[in-house]
Amino acid sequence: MIVLYALLGLLLGAGINLCADQLPRWRTLRRTPFCPYCQEPRPEWAWIGTLAYLRFRRNCARCGAAIPWRVPLVELGTAALSAFLWYQYHPQPTLLGLYSLYSLILVLVLVIDLEHRLILNVVMYPAWLLAILGSFVHPEPYFYRLALLGGAVGFALLFLVYLLGELFVKVMSRARGKPIHAVAFGFGDVRLGAFIGLMLGFPQVLSAVFLAVLLGGVIGLIYWFVQAIILRSYSLFTAIPYGPFLVAGAATVLFFGPF
Ligand SMILES: [Zn+2]
Repeated sequence: MIVLYALLGLLLGAGINLCADQLPRWRTLRRTPFCPYCQEPRPEWAWIGTLAYLRFRRNCARCGAAIPWRVPLVELGTAALSAFLWYQYHPQPTLLGLYSLYSLILVLVLVIDLEHRLILNVVMYPAWLLAILGSFVHPEPYFYRLALLGGAVGFALLFLVYLLGELFVKVMSRARGKPIHAVAFGFGDVRLGAFIGLMLGFPQVLSAVFLAVLLGGVIGLIYWFVQAIILRSYSLFTAIPYGPFLVAGAATVLFFGPF
């Protein structure tokens, strides 16, 4: 069964790739998988990128460009994730289903944010709805109350970070006498915070945000260290996308919590 569930994860990973290729471009799904370089549709057997890689036919028939390595990576990642979730939660089918859906959303958010620095409403609003509905079938009684509270807290916390970020940019722009165009923390992150709260509930949302801030701080310091000390070319205002840290914090609490 675990193998079947991992295979299902692989198929869903192909779906994630489809969304990650098309949602940032059109905000909707329009086509079957296609070559990102010349728009040539991929043949049916290559809709699952891993299969195309395994058959050593990963190059586009028209322009010869390889299917991006992200495609099989996401598929194998969601397959491994599904196997892990099955192992962890198969005695509780409701949790297994919910956590599988939530992880797929987190993977999609991660991929799109890393590639485009975007957290899309077309992903976030359905995710909110799913997490609200999910909170009513959650095995823990009255979980929907914790979920709604968590969603509000997640939104409020990250909205505060967002405002502080705006303030910081404004103050620094004035201090330097010229405007800085560095959006380190967008409103998409605030919406993601609300989703994380709805999904984890209160007070777990606090652990997730705390982990994200910690992780962001540590990675930020390492990044600063490498840039400033080793490469000697740091600008204080290099924007690091924050979404991946939120995803990492949320996933840690979801899979290994409660903390
Ligand atoms: Zn092509």
